[in-house]
Amino acid sequence: MRHTGPWLRAAEGAMLLGPDGVPAPTVFAEMSALAASTGSVNLGQGFPDEDGPAEVLDAAVQAIRDGVNQYPPGRGTADLRLAIAEHQRHWYGLEVDPDQEVLVTAGATEALAATLLALVEPGDEVITFEPFYDAYGALIRLAGATHVTVPLTAPDFLPDESTLRAAFSDRTRAVLVNTPHNPTGRVLPTEVLRIVVELAERHDAVIITDEVYEHLTFDTALAPHVPVATLPGARERTVTVSSAGKTFSTTGWKIGWLTAPPALVIAITTVKQYLTFVNGAPFQPAVAVGLRLPDTVFAGIAADLAAKHDVLAAGLTAAGFGVHRPDGGYFVIADTAPLGYEDARPFCLELPHTAGVVGVPVSAFVRPDHAAGYRSLVRFAFCKRRSVLEDAAARLATLSGA
Ligand SMILES: *Cc1c(COP(=O)(O)O)cnc(C)c1O
Repeated sequence: MRHTGPWLRAAEGAMLLGPDGVPAPTVFAEMSALAASTGSVNLGQGFPDEDGPAEVLDAAVQAIRDGVNQYPPGRGTADLRLAIAEHQRHWYGLEVDPDQEVLVTAGATEALAATLLALVEPGDEVITFEPFYDAYGALIRLAGATHVTVPLTAPDFLPDESTLRAAFSDRTRAVLVNTPHNPTGRVLPTEVLRIVVELAERHDAVIITDEVYEHLTFDTALAPHVPVATLPGARERTVTVSSAGKTFSTTGWKIGWLTAPPALVIAITTVKQYLTFVNGAPFQPAVAVGLRLPDTVFAGIAADLAAKHDVLAAGLTAAGFGVHRPDGGYFVIADTAPLGYEDARPFCLELPHTAGVVGVPVSAFVRPDHAAGYRSLVRFAFCKRRSVLEDAAARLATLSGA
């Protein structure tokens, strides 16, 4: 039997296709297996090892007990859609109609998948920054589109304006932005986002913006999160994607959502209803509780994460890495070059044995032919308990002989 199909494009888009044409396991699976077999501290994959707000967890337990266990409405429960609309108004001054402009999805991932599959035709071009979250490459290729990337280069991980402008053409169907950005931790400055909006308008492209780390920023004065949809000219062509997973440490619940103008929501819902139809009935009211928590709770979540960053970053610095301070998110990028390494991939394969810590080479988020500027960089997750990060820092210290 022939074993071909669009899945091969997805594997290629996620940079998993080896020279033999067989997809390799993802670097996350590979590194997690290595962490398990060596008893290492796993700072590879970005999921928290602590529960989020008790109010949110209790609300899910209560909903299950109350019998909220059957298919919810296709676009999500009315109250969660209302809570999402209230959240957009409260935090960003965005007016969103909960009945026509909100869609609840199976995580941000399904929101992105349904959006790309609904709006992008084979032969279209979709632009993302690079490094990029692996699902972007896979989904763009699954939709049959061509993936055009604009590099974010060290040390500041900002795009070059002329490169950004040159990436757009009349073949550009969509530009997919991610801010705060995974893996670099950069909050994209408003000037960059304004150029994206200007170019999307000029080329009549849709803006898809992945803002799953919207509440996890570390300096709201210096690098505040600015939703793309708040910028002049953006709202009518923007699909804003977010998720409860990262904010409330509930990555396993897979409750995400998108907000967009009504015609785009109709198009995306048409695809979404044949992907999952619906998901997570008892988690939907719980996420509504979370979105309505006081501002101080959100500030506390971000401050807690910033303190975790500081523990890990201090350990990395002491061990001799060059450390790129993130503006937000779950990850810090560390440069192995000062330790005398050129290629972070062999370094990451060695690190579990030499220090008992697992990180992921940034080259996993970059196409093989674009890897040059990223080769010595490693991404470490700091969304872990303080004791785990202190342990990791102590283990890393052995690298410098300290
Ligand atoms: C974690 C993550 C997602 C996936 O979110 P889910 O809600 O778990 O689907 C999407 N985008 C980025 C940038 C992420 O880091």
